[in-house]
Amino acid sequence: MKSERTLVIIKPDGIQRALIGEVIKRYERTGLKLVAMKMTVATEDMIETHYSVDPNWKMVTGQKAIDAYRKKGMVPPSENPLELTAIILKKLRKYMSSGPVVAMVWQGMNAVGVVRKITGSTEPLTSDVGSIRGDLTIDSYQMADTDERAVRNLVHTSGSTDDAAKEIALWFKDGELINYKLVQEAILYDVNLDGILE
Ligand code: GDP
Ligand code: MG
Repeated sequence: MKSERTLVIIKPDGIQRALIGEVIKRYERTGLKLVAMKMTVATEDMIETHYSVDPNWKMVTGQKAIDAYRKKGMVPPSENPLELTAIILKKLRKYMSSGPVVAMVWQGMNAVGVVRKITGSTEPLTSDVGSIRGDLTIDSYQMADTDERAVRNLVHTSGSTDDAAKEIALWFKDGELINYKLVQEAILYDVNLDGILE
């Protein structure tokens, strides 16, 4: 559990908003350990592969979009989740390859869940106060739909440990992940806090 890993991508809007440091700070201060990081420009095909690592993603995301329309009293453009995801994926390919991104691997206890919690839910307009998406941007599904683009929500984070393993393998080579100790891990994980008092 202490070595759980998750992938974070600061999306092109996060880079353009000059939020690289702010985003990293929020994950870093939890005690999670940064074990890999790179800046890169993704191809549209890479983005499609990335969002296809979870075979359920298309169904779940389409349903989530349909539910969001209904909750606002709006009629979804299709009742078929897969049709909605196809539209979202087309916009995502463009958005995520529109400029440089920063990809990172964070490691530590419950890394996937901790990172999701700090990131906030998908739509910034309704993300919790205190989360990255809730605090640092203002986009909404409605605005994104009006302008026929993906929701700009600053970061991607893996949805599960299974997805994380596949996404990390897609974005990083084995040798790019660094095994090292952080002194603070003793405080986070050791059974006894020995050696503090002199
Ligand atoms: P995440 O795990 O919270 O990032 O959300 P998902 O995995 O469900 O969706 C991936 C990305 O697609 C999101 O981060 C958004 O950028 C975009 N997206 C998801 N759902 C919608 C939607 O209903 N409309 C639009 N325009 N974009 C969406
Ligand atoms: Mg996701």
